[in-house]
Amino acid sequence: MEGDSDLLPGDKPGIKTICAWCGQTIQGGDDHPISHGICHSCFSDLLSQDSISLKEFVEGLDVPILVVDDDVRAALSNNKTESLLQKESREILDRKGGEIFACVNSHGPGGCGESIHCLGCTLRNSVEDTYSTGIPHIDVPATLRVEHKAELKDTVSRISTVRIEPEPGRYQVVLSVRDFHEQEEKGDS
Ligand SMILES: [Zn+2]
Repeated sequence: MEGDSDLLPGDKPGIKTICAWCGQTIQGGDDHPISHGICHSCFSDLLSQDSISLKEFVEGLDVPILVVDDDVRAALSNNKTESLLQKESREILDRKGGEIFACVNSHGPGGCGESIHCLGCTLRNSVEDTYSTGIPHIDVPATLRVEHKAELKDTVSRISTVRIEPEPGRYQVVLSVRDFHEQEEKGDS
């Protein structure tokens, strides 16, 4: 259990806050609304991982995880991600987030990150910002339009990004994707 005053960037004071990584309560408060953060234990665990133990660490987390570079290219995934996307790790590793999630904007020339729509991509922007500033983004709503079996579907999820430094001077971003699901239909077009 963590103290009430130990809020990390991205935490909101006064609201019940649960660690998005391990599910522990970080800060007490009313049950609604509930916010997510990252507890100090998970944060320091993340920061202190080298690449080998990082794999074990993310496998132990009960949330889909991708470890990515500043171009959202995956270096590591965990079982939760693989079962969420029904993909094997070899279909995930060394690919960019847009390809991994079948985002429609990754189908254009240059792929994920190169379309005009990618400028407004919450997932990509959060990863890039955390990579360059070191400031985590916790529980940010993100939407992706994905193509699934030749059908377009709008999806929503809550993403968190934390920067790690597995080797001196080399950064990666640990990206968690919670509550990934299809958005309710808003009528046909
Ligand atoms: Zn935690």
